[in-house]
Formats: sequence, structure tokens, C-alpha cells
Amino acid sequence: MNNPVRLLILMVFTIFILSGCTKEDDAIKVGFLIHALDKERWENDRDYFIEKVQELGGTVEVRVADNDAQKQLDQANELLANGIDVLVVVPVDQFAAAEIVQNAQEKNVSVISYDRLIKNCRLDYYVSTDNVEIGRLQAEYLTTMKPSGKYALIGGAISDNNSQFLYLGQMNVLQPLVEKGDIEIIYNEFTEAWEEEEGYNHAKKLLQTTEEIDAIIAGNDAIAFGVTRALAEAGKEGEVLVAGMDADLRNLQEIVAGHQTCTVYKPYEKLAATAAELAMTLGRDEECERTFQTVSNGQRLVPAVLHEAMIVNKDNLKLTVISEGYQTEEEIYR
Ligand code: BGC
Repeated sequence: MNNPVRLLILMVFTIFILSGCTKEDDAIKVGFLIHALDKERWENDRDYFIEKVQELGGTVEVRVADNDAQKQLDQANELLANGIDVLVVVPVDQFAAAEIVQNAQEKNVSVISYDRLIKNCRLDYYVSTDNVEIGRLQAEYLTTMKPSGKYALIGGAISDNNSQFLYLGQMNVLQPLVEKGDIEIIYNEFTEAWEEEEGYNHAKKLLQTTEEIDAIIAGNDAIAFGVTRALAEAGKEGEVLVAGMDADLRNLQEIVAGHQTCTVYKPYEKLAATAAELAMTLGRDEECERTFQTVSNGQRLVPAVLHEAMIVNKDNLKLTVISEGYQTEEEIYR
């Protein structure tokens, strides 16, 4: 073989090896910090997210904080020290997580707030469902069924901005009816941690003060499940309207049984895919080409993607959660 041909083969070989290495070394590393895997939906969010990032050529480091804000901060610092390219965070605490954003910024790492908004900081992006709209959907659904009567609100965790957004949406519908004198809100509490037991205890307390209650809007399905348990114990199963959120399997079964009135399905796969695509774009330092809405987090108008949610009731189960592939007919009607 003459020299120029040898040289050419050597060059092609070297480029081939180097491009292989570069690809491997340059794979975008995405950190996914999740508050906890405490509800049915979150494992799905995590799995959809990992799948999409991997499909786009990145890798994901997941850390679960077990609802401990300090632990989440430590996990963020660990990932930042390990050279993560971008962080996606489901915050334990809407305010405490601002420190994660600050620390990331010092290392030029962008942060996407996932599902829950991080407040009072220079957050880069927010990907969620429109939670004000979800609150409105819940209240509108129940007030259409019972336009007058006694209503109770048992909201989500006080540390989670979604609880405030939901409340805002609910009150946008309820307040005018309260002012007209049609509706009376006789109970109005937030929970500490979106838990079933809290829903149960609040509903118990409510039922001790009054026999008359027409509707209960619960922050999520775990709370709603606690509420229906308490209603069953009081012999009021199926008599009081109950709204929840998340489309958890056992709540869908409760809807079929007539114990819960409705829930809300959020398109988890779309949510995770949007966050994964955005994370990869930011990780690669590319321009984001999509259009964003903005949501104020108290410090800035954060570019946001807010997906639409839908009310799920007895009659549209097939058209919603089942056709979306989120739950199966066999399991719901088991
Ligand atoms: C989510 C809900 C979930 C709750 C508890 C909220 O931030 O929006 O879907 O049920 O957290 O995990």
C-alpha cells in the first residue's frame, strides 16, 4: 500500500474512533430530582421521562428526596458537583427549592420546574398542567351538578404551589355563587402532604360539625379516597359529590362504584416528553424553538408549557384515561 492511501485509511480510522468517543463522552446528562414516589402517577412520570431522554440520546440521573427539602438540596448539590448538564426538579417545597435554582445558576446549569412551580428565583422554565384550569374544571363540574348547597374544600399540600393554583381556579367558580347566596363554603383547609389519611381526618372533622354537606372538592385522589372512606363510615357513601385529581386506579374504581364523582387526568406522558425535549435542548445549548406561555413565580415571568387536563367521570372513562392508554378497562372494572 502506498503512503498516501495508508495515511488516508489511518485518518478515516482515527476520525471514526474519535467521533465514537465524543458521542459517548458528550451524552447530555440530565438530573431528575423528584420530591418522592409517593403517589401512583410519579413512577409513570419518571419512567416516561427517562425513556424520552434516552430516545433523544441523553442519560438521566434520578434522585428521590422522600419529601425532605434538605435532602433534595443535597441531591441537587451532588449532581451539580458531578457535572450534570441540566436539572429537572419536582420540588419538595416551592420556596426552599429556590436555593437549588441559585446553585445551578452559579454553575450555568438550567433548571426546569416539573409539575410544581419553584417560587421567588430566576427559574429557567416551567413544564406542567394548567392547575388553575384544573381547579376551575373541578368546581365547574360539581356546581353544574349541584348549583347550590354546602361545599367543602380540602386542598393539597401547603408547601406545593399547585395547591394555591387549584384553589384559585376553584374560587373563580365558587366565589360568584357564594356572593349570590347559592353556595356556602363551610370547610376550607389545606393539607400538609396531599395524603389519604389527611383527607380522611379532615372529612371526619367536617362530618362531626355538620350532617349537611353537598360537595367536597379534594386536592387530589389520595385525599379524595380518604374523604370517601370517612363518608362511608358516616353512612353517606355516594350521597355527597366528591372531586379529586390524578386518575389513580382505585379512584377510577370508586367512580365506577358511584362513591367519587370525578377526577382529573393530566397527560403525564406528554408532560414528561415536553420536559425531556426541553432538557435536551438546553443541555445541548441549542435555541428553544417552541412558543412559551409565561407564569409569574414571584420574581420573574417564567417561560412555561402548560398542558391541558381533562375531567374524568363515569361516562367518559373510555374516551379519556382508557383511550389515552393510562389505565386499562380490565383493571378499572375488575
Ligand atoms: C401533583 C399531584 C399529586 C400531588 C402529590 C402535586 O404537585 O400535581 O398530581 O397528586 O402533587 O404528589
